[in-house]
Amino acid sequence: MDGHSDILADILIIGGGMAGLSAGTALAATGARIIVLDKGRGPGGRMAARRVEIAGQPVSFDHGAQYFTARDPAFQTAVAAWEEAGVAARWPAAGEDAWVGTPGMNACVKAMAGALDVRWSLRAERLQRDGAGWRVTAGEQVFTAATVLVAVPAEQAAVLLAEVAPDLAALPAGVTSAPCWAAMAAFDAPLTYKPDTFRSDSAAVSWAARNSAKPGRSGAETWVIHASPARSGELIDLPKDEAAKALLADFFAATGIAPAIPQHCDAHRWLYALPEALRGEGARFDPVLGIGIAGDYLHSPRVEGAWLSGRTLAEAVCQARVASTS
Ligand SMILES: Cc1cc2nc3c(=O)[nH]c(=O)nc-3n(C[C@H](O)[C@H](O)[C@H](O)COP(=O)(O)OP(=O)(O)OC[C@H]3O[C@@H](n4cnc5c(N)ncnc54)[C@H](O)[C@@H]3O)c2cc1C
Repeated sequence: MDGHSDILADILIIGGGMAGLSAGTALAATGARIIVLDKGRGPGGRMAARRVEIAGQPVSFDHGAQYFTARDPAFQTAVAAWEEAGVAARWPAAGEDAWVGTPGMNACVKAMAGALDVRWSLRAERLQRDGAGWRVTAGEQVFTAATVLVAVPAEQAAVLLAEVAPDLAALPAGVTSAPCWAAMAAFDAPLTYKPDTFRSDSAAVSWAARNSAKPGRSGAETWVIHASPARSGELIDLPKDEAAKALLADFFAATGIAPAIPQHCDAHRWLYALPEALRGEGARFDPVLGIGIAGDYLHSPRVEGAWLSGRTLAEAVCQARVASTS
């Protein structure tokens, strides 16, 4: 006996990023008891926002996804609701149909999480079959559920599922994600580079944005700089302060502006940033085992792809529940 009693759910979702929360939001309408586990300290996943204090002022950087587009009508409806709720706004600097979370990129995920039972800082470590359902161990806690949905990056899903659902695990096991180093820099005066965004298919920097120019942000001049997949691979094992310096130098070289000394400079390494997505059915659910997968890697490597994948998985779960009761 471990002294802890199991926590019961009808549906346990592992991963509270855009895909997991999209599934959870759609399934909550069925009245099922849903619990979401996420290893992160707070909402965002790859749509995270990093908060720091610079010269006594709070500053937030969107160091993962920079903006998103909404082309599918169902996703457009979700985005319109976020806009209405004040957690998303258009950002024309990135394109006509570009949106960002406000006041930080994680705001939409945070709003979705707020309506669900999400347990942060809990990493699902082990899945076991338990009668007709599942036992999931996360740190000291054990959850039991009839249905488990795994909405984590492909490489991590493949590991979690390998022993208990090898057929399902084969999908994410076939996916490779490109890494991305992201630098976050603040300056005490505006940079001489005038546009709010920079993008390139050939430079060491694939994207950079004046984070402080996004809607709903205030405070110091801040930039987020993303290294290209090739450059991220070259720098992959560097300590983060050295990677930050290298990215900043790459940015000044790519834009041709005079280097400026940042007030603050940090970096984050996304190991599984952008998957080579399978672009197949969008999600997969095994109704016999009661386990399914969602994530951008099953649709398209974008915020919208993650949302659509989660929604597709929720529909498959609902169909299976209807079939089992009819
Ligand atoms: C640097 C970068 C730039 C990007 N730029 C853009 C962009 O401009 N536009 C765009 O549309 N998309 C962009 N993307 C892609 C976009 O962020 C993703 O497609 C989307 O957020 C993926 O959502 P997801 O839910 O599938 O995965 P994630 O957001 O990765 O969510 C998975 C969650 O699972 C949790 N987790 C993992 N393992 C476990 C475990 N064992 N137990 C519990 N929890 C676990 C993680 O903490 C995470 O919160 C970018 C991504 C990165 C990294």
